[in-house]
Amino acid sequence: MTYKQNHSDIREGIDKLCQKFSGEYWQKCDRDHAYPIDFVNELTKEGYLSALIPEEYGGLGLPLSAGAAILEEIHKSGGNAGACHAQMYTMGTVLRHGSKAQKEKYLPNIADGNLRLQAFGVTEPTSGTDTTALRTSAKRMGDRYIVNGQKIWTSRAEHSDLLLLLARTTPLEEVSKKTEGLSVFLVDMRQVLGKSLTIRPIRTMMNHSTTELFFDDMEIPASSLVGEEGKGFRYILSGMNAERLLIAAECIGDAKWFIGKATSYACDRSIFKRPIGQNQGVQFPIARAYSQMRGAELMLSHAIELYDSGENPGEEANLAKLLSSDASWEAAEMCIQTFGGFGFAEEYDVERKFREARLYQVAPISTNMVLSYIAEHVLGLPRSY
Ligand SMILES: Cc1cc2nc3c(=O)[nH]c(=O)nc-3n(C[C@H](O)[C@H](O)[C@H](O)COP(=O)(O)OP(=O)(O)OC[C@H]3O[C@@H](n4cnc5c(N)ncnc54)[C@H](O)[C@@H]3O)c2cc1C
Repeated sequence: MTYKQNHSDIREGIDKLCQKFSGEYWQKCDRDHAYPIDFVNELTKEGYLSALIPEEYGGLGLPLSAGAAILEEIHKSGGNAGACHAQMYTMGTVLRHGSKAQKEKYLPNIADGNLRLQAFGVTEPTSGTDTTALRTSAKRMGDRYIVNGQKIWTSRAEHSDLLLLLARTTPLEEVSKKTEGLSVFLVDMRQVLGKSLTIRPIRTMMNHSTTELFFDDMEIPASSLVGEEGKGFRYILSGMNAERLLIAAECIGDAKWFIGKATSYACDRSIFKRPIGQNQGVQFPIARAYSQMRGAELMLSHAIELYDSGENPGEEANLAKLLSSDASWEAAEMCIQTFGGFGFAEEYDVERKFREARLYQVAPISTNMVLSYIAEHVLGLPRSY
């Protein structure tokens, strides 16, 4: 990888750790739709999930490039970081906007693995991509907030203690701009689960532990509010670039896995008395996938460098996410084609990784929204929404 800070020690450590979790491990989790608990525990034990938590709170205090290196290597090994990546991309919101008391209360416990911050509740069934139209409300009543509403696609909620929640604290009709009146809360779900909070799993085409959440007069302490009331949309937006970069790193890892698998299969598989990889019809898609991955990796590297130097690189983060998710999807398509029929057999992991790679065209941000950002915010084309 070409990030300025390559983090080769972290990469080697992750590679070694991932070797303990074979294709069979991931196949079984996938088949049973099971949370890869042993894998997550091992990552936590080795301190990798606390990479972005400052040292004063018990974490490793590393830059985003380290988080990206961890996630990339997990995906490159054939695993999937979807079970735990949110701890990294929600961290920025807590670090930048959380109070000292919140940080002191939660971060050391997250760093040592006693608490998980893996759930991020933004999307709702009726508002979808149009975040400011969300309907979940949080009303202040003395020293508490009362939350009512529903979220969808809140991944890992069943395996998380804490939830970073976006809710409306001032009704849409009473704000001058629709981006105002939204607030972020750090909710301790252990207090309310099974009472005023219901979590319902959603089965999906890949194993992602995603859920629906229902809030029914859910009471949370006022101290759950992150930063100032009404400024939550801005806080969530400020974390989006980090999220895009971390997801792009996972896509680069996936692309490398697909390219590696296809290359060795094309050399080993002999048909018509010669390796299939001797045919240019098989070689060229692999070479093209490699070229696309390298181009995307360069953009990602550049964007991460800007981010770690203190900039908020909206253009580069969006470009990196677009190019990387396209590169991983093209590589997935190439890989399944290279494997022929065996690409569809569970034991080769190609079909599983193929299903997993598809998600990143839609979540956490769909390709259309990234293109819209580039068209309207970078190129200055007229706003479409
Ligand atoms: C497995 C999975 C895990 C997820 N995890 C989380 C999570 O942990 N937390 C969370 O908050 N969310 C999560 N999401 C939600 C995810 O971020 C959304 O699915 C995604 O942002 C798209 O929103 P939507 O599904 O509501 O699509 P919609 O908003 O309904 O859009 C449908 C399609 O129309 C397109 N579209 C809509 N409006 C426009 C427009 N103006 N211009 C062009 N195209 C447009 C979209 O790009 C999309 O392709 C997850 C989703 C999935 C599938």
